[in-house]
Amino acid sequence: MKITAKTKVTGLIGYPVEHSLSPVMHNSAFEALELDYCYVTFSVEPSRLEEAIRGIRALGIAGINVTIPHKEAVMKFLDRIDEEAREIGAVNTVVNKEGLLIGYNTDGRGFMASLNENCYFPQGKRVFIVGAGGASKAVAYYLSKEASELFIYDIDRQKSLNLVNHLKGHGKVSMAKVTVAEDISTIREADIVINATPIGLKPEDPSPVDIELLHKGQIVCDLIYKETRLLREASMKGCQTINGLGMLLWQGVFAFELWTGKKPPVEVMRKALMEALGVRLK
Ligand code: NAP
Repeated sequence: MKITAKTKVTGLIGYPVEHSLSPVMHNSAFEALELDYCYVTFSVEPSRLEEAIRGIRALGIAGINVTIPHKEAVMKFLDRIDEEAREIGAVNTVVNKEGLLIGYNTDGRGFMASLNENCYFPQGKRVFIVGAGGASKAVAYYLSKEASELFIYDIDRQKSLNLVNHLKGHGKVSMAKVTVAEDISTIREADIVINATPIGLKPEDPSPVDIELLHKGQIVCDLIYKETRLLREASMKGCQTINGLGMLLWQGVFAFELWTGKKPPVEVMRKALMEALGVRLK
C-alpha cells in the first residue's frame, strides 16, 4: 500500500481498538481495487468522543467505523442518521459526505448476510437471543422482520424488556411475536439460538447456555468471531453452528461500499480475515 498526499483516510473509533481485524480487512480491499484509501484505528476515550467526531470533519476523514463503547453515544454528534440506524438505536459506520457526517448501522445486515450465505433463513423460525446489548439490538431488529417468534434473554431482565419494547415500537416492520424469555430453558423451543453476549471471548469462559438445553436440528450462532465453547459443545450435540466471523466480514463489506461507492471485493476481505485468524469461515 502506497500512502500519497491524496490518500483518503478511513478508520475505527473505539476503546479499546488494538485487537481489531478491520484494518487488515479494509486495507486488503483498498489494495485489491487500487483505491487510494487507508484504514487505521483511533483509540478514543469516552470523554473525548465529541472532540474526535469534530476531528473527522476538520481532518476530512472519509469515513469511520464505530465500536464499543461509542455506538450509541456517537449518534448525537452526527448530522444525519440513516433510518435503519435510527430504528436500531446505534451507529457502527459514519460516512463523511463533504463535511456532512451520516451514521449507518451495518451490523444487523452483516449478521443476516452471514446467515443467508450459509443457507440459513430465519423466515417463520423461532429465534432465541441471549444478551440484549448493542449487538443484540442490531441483530434483533432484522430478525424481528423475518422470524415468527423472537425471545430475548439477558441476565438483566430490564434490558430484555427495554429491547422488546423498542422492537415493538417499530410495529410496522416487526413480523415476529417478540417477548422477554423469563426462563432460559425456552431455548429448547427455538430453531435458531444466538449468543449476543461477550461470554466466550476468553478461552476460559463458560458457555452462556446450558448445553443440555440444546438439541440436534437447532442452528446455534455466536456473534464472537472465534470457535467458542458454546459452538464446540453445540456442534457435539448435533447442532449446526456459525461463528461471528461472517458478520464481521459482511458489516465491513457494507461499510466499504458506503465509503467508496465501489463493489467490495468480498473474497479478498474474507481471505484477509481468515489469514489474520488462521481459521476457516463457517
Ligand atoms: P454488550 O453491549 O455488553 O451486550 C451484552 C449483553 O449481554 C449485556 O446486556 C450483558 O449484561 C448481557 N449478558 C452478559 N452475560 C450474560 C449471560 N450469561 N446471559 C445473558 N445475558 C448476558 O455487548 P455487545 O456490544 O452487544 O457485544 C456482544 C458480543 O457480540 C461481543 O462478544 C462482541 O464481540 C460481539 N459482536 C460481534 C460483531 C461481529 O461483527 N461479529 C459485532 C458486534 C458485536 P451486562 O452488561 O449486565 O453484563
